[in-house]
Amino acid sequence: MSNILVYTEKTELALELIEAARILCRAGLGDEIKWLSINNRAQAEESAQRGIDSWVVKAEGITIADTAALASIIAQASRVLECDTIVLSSDRRGKELAGRLAAKLDAGCLTDVKALESAGQDIGLVRNALGGATVAVQTITSPQKVIAFAPGAFPCTEEVPEKSGAVNELEITGVKASVKVIENRPKDAGTVDIAKARILVIVGQGIEDKEDLPLVQELAGKLGAEIGCSKPVATDKKWLPEERVVGLSGKTCQPELAVILGVSGQVQFTVGIRDAKLVVSVNKDENAYMNQMADYVLVSDLKEVLPELLQALG
Ligand SMILES: Cc1cc2nc3c(=O)[nH]c(=O)nc-3n(C[C@H](O)[C@H](O)[C@H](O)COP(=O)(O)OP(=O)(O)OC[C@H]3O[C@@H](n4cnc5c(N)ncnc54)[C@H](O)[C@@H]3O)c2cc1C
Repeated sequence: MSNILVYTEKTELALELIEAARILCRAGLGDEIKWLSINNRAQAEESAQRGIDSWVVKAEGITIADTAALASIIAQASRVLECDTIVLSSDRRGKELAGRLAAKLDAGCLTDVKALESAGQDIGLVRNALGGATVAVQTITSPQKVIAFAPGAFPCTEEVPEKSGAVNELEITGVKASVKVIENRPKDAGTVDIAKARILVIVGQGIEDKEDLPLVQELAGKLGAEIGCSKPVATDKKWLPEERVVGLSGKTCQPELAVILGVSGQVQFTVGIRDAKLVVSVNKDENAYMNQMADYVLVSDLKEVLPELLQALG
């Protein structure tokens, strides 16, 4: 058996996971790609339109918050559908699922995979290592593999294949719910996903006074940018919500332009912005690490620069 089973509850990530699975197939890791949907027939039908045979499991009473139950279902499905490799999305829930599945299947597991390349006879899985200080190419040597891909890592092919896949039902038994959802609350209206921003203005502790934040907001408005921040700005100072943190503990962003204001550039931060196309760093310390990865550096005090920038932008 050597098929690839793909699962995510996030339909918007389906295409890129299918793309990653196709590359794995071409590299000899699987003969066929099989899509698994749990309690979501519409998602299975969408994947089938991409030429992928899909299976829907009806799991009454089991919600997407119940990763233990989901892992049991996916593990059983992988055996029934003869899949040695399971492909997931490396988001918060996908990473938890990956660990649980690896334990259940005695599989080798890598998360946060952001590219694939050949590594001798094997396929190399490219991911950040040592807290983001370096990029490593790793292989999974066990027969069973669980691979979770970083969201946004693979461009999706929009072309629709000539032949659709089939949508099948799959019966899985003996899995009991372990989580009961008491209440669902919508996210705050102001919630943003900075990982998707085209332009980012990122605030570090170099913004010394909270009173200067409106100037940053004005700058972001003029540039059509979202605001991100370094971790201490959110977790220590609590000036901005944690969803805006860039870096190891926050989001990995790939904006076309990142204007970085008063960030020293520790590796835990830069790992979240190293794929930005153009980086501008404003810092009063010319030796700040941040400046080393910037395309443009302005060595200056933000107190002076911000009003001047706003004036220049009109
Ligand atoms: C396990 C772990 C995970 C972490 N995850 C993250 C993460 O995801 N994201 C993250 O950001 N950090 C993370 N950190 C923290 C990280 O190591 C740094 O401490 C943090 O990034 C520093 O934030 P900063 O650059 O804003 O502050 P600082 O390091 O204090 O730097 C402030 C910078 O502003 C400049 N500056 C000061 N005043 C001015 C001024 N008036 N004008 C211009 N420039 C000025 C200074 O020269 C300095 O370079 C993590 C740490 C650990 C241990």
